[in-house]
Amino acid sequence: MDKSLPDQKIILHIDFDSFFASVEQQYNFSLRGKPIGVLAANSRSCIIASSREAKRLGIKTGARSFEAKQICPSIALVPADFIKYFEISKKFLNICKDYSPFVELFSIDEVFMDITKTVHLFDGTHRIISKIKSRIKQEIGEYITASIGISHNKLLAKMASSINKPDGVYKITQNNLDEVFRDAKLTDVCGVGERIKIRLNKLGIYNLLQLRSVPYYSLVSEFGNVEAEFLKNVSFGHDESSVIPYTTYQQVKSVGRSYCLPKNEYNKRVVLQNIYELCEEVSIKLRKLNKRGRTVGISLRGNVDFNYRKTFKDYFDTGKEIYHNLYSHLYSHLSSGNTDYIRQISVWVANLEDNQNLQLSLFDSSGKKERLIKTVDLINERFGDHTIRNGFLLYADKLTTVPNGYLADRYERLKLAHDPDVIC
Ligand SMILES: [Mg+2]
Repeated sequence: MDKSLPDQKIILHIDFDSFFASVEQQYNFSLRGKPIGVLAANSRSCIIASSREAKRLGIKTGARSFEAKQICPSIALVPADFIKYFEISKKFLNICKDYSPFVELFSIDEVFMDITKTVHLFDGTHRIISKIKSRIKQEIGEYITASIGISHNKLLAKMASSINKPDGVYKITQNNLDEVFRDAKLTDVCGVGERIKIRLNKLGIYNLLQLRSVPYYSLVSEFGNVEAEFLKNVSFGHDESSVIPYTTYQQVKSVGRSYCLPKNEYNKRVVLQNIYELCEEVSIKLRKLNKRGRTVGISLRGNVDFNYRKTFKDYFDTGKEIYHNLYSHLYSHLSSGNTDYIRQISVWVANLEDNQNLQLSLFDSSGKKERLIKTVDLINERFGDHTIRNGFLLYADKLTTVPNGYLADRYERLKLAHDPDVIC
């Protein structure tokens, strides 16, 4: 083995501080140094990011705008602009990839980097970190800072980046691991959410060291084998997963779209129109990927929740087919008398297959339908999605297709991997 290579992996987790809010402050001088809240693009009521000044006052992400105003009447509330944030993410990737080919975009404001094989080219880990930090200042903006975690795996690097915020650097090694684990909250671990925390608390586990000492079989009986193994590994700080470069093609397993309605929607027709529009959006994604699916799913959140999924024999890739496949169950749910209002809709299609592996339909051998859809896609691409819409959507408000902000969808990541602005 090359003597200059470290014997342990060196993983960085870089996390922008108060990202959306800092970007807004970067571009608008009058917001700097002030408490600000960034509002979800389609809602006036939910703060999805607060500036560090607002955080200091106790205004957290997820707060309602009226709550924020009670705490700080002068708080500036600005709508989110994901297109702007996404552009900055791309610039950031272009900086990171100068120091390693192993850069994974984990969310719109977080990356993992594996610098094990390149660290010797740049005079060490801290030299790389200071270069990245100063390039963020020069190339992205002096008001935007990032906190960086260093460790030998992704799990610990991610925990480390949150320890010294903002603009900090922290390293977790085998020597300080127990100390960090004693002070960390269970939910500081990526993959451990509130629900898992509550179940762990029921077993008498309140921190990661207690998780380490609990017998494995207790975890298996509570969580099942897969989750128990994950939790046991977490408790020892083990994580074997590798940094997957953003340029790597990842198999897309499903495509979906979620939409939070601007208000509680009591009008069933408007709900159905929104669902139809989401089906159209999902179908556009499918066709751009050259795929069809045969499982469809929907979830509705409102005064009652509704989840439905069904797998069909035939594959489909049009909005009309997706909607049609959902319709009968959807209709009976909406007209059951239990549903008063709907607030959030998610539509997805899974069980995907490449078009080239599927036989053409026997009943449409002329390809007329395909040609029509291709033309509609071309027009929509040229003039913006949904220029041509189904008659059912006449007079319905248009949804806008914008990056969803969290890159939860692999489709968005795939698009980024092929984006000419990001030099691979
Ligand atoms: Mg962040």
